[in-house]
Amino acid sequence: MEIRGTKVIVRAPLFTSREEIDRFVNQHRKWIETHLKKAEAREQLKETVHKLTPEEVRDLADRARKVIPERVAYYAPLVGVTYGRITIRRQRSRWGSCSSKGNLNFNCLLMLTPPEVLDSVVVHELCHRKHMNHSSRFYAEVLRVFPDYREQHRWLKEHGDELMAMLGGS
Ligand SMILES: [Zn+2]
Repeated sequence: MEIRGTKVIVRAPLFTSREEIDRFVNQHRKWIETHLKKAEAREQLKETVHKLTPEEVRDLADRARKVIPERVAYYAPLVGVTYGRITIRRQRSRWGSCSSKGNLNFNCLLMLTPPEVLDSVVVHELCHRKHMNHSSRFYAEVLRVFPDYREQHRWLKEHGDELMAMLGGS
């Protein structure tokens, strides 16, 4: 069973009776309701949020290209790592990433988050220079450098979808 857009899709083996399918759906009603509500909220958000114009996105990216390298340069020695190239992207999927070569990518939308949130993402990616995973050792390192991490991460979880939706289609 999956939610696609705002539709529920139930896959069943051939010859499954209608009653069996109904029973299955009934048993999972709670799950369906929660996920449908989330999907609908997401769809609505896409329509109602302010869509950034290309100029606004360019402006964010320009600012990000100035600010983010400074934050990376500040935190890298605290984490105790080196890094490669820093690239600013407009993305609807992620806030940052770190390649095995140490090249860092950051989403230009980070310029719309509070500075502590931006810093938490910077520290997260820099800590991947030590641990290329999300293990407990990785998070221990993140928390050593940035004790406030969980709170900032929560902010991103709560507001991230809305910010990403500002990039609109494409
Ligand atoms: Zn990560």
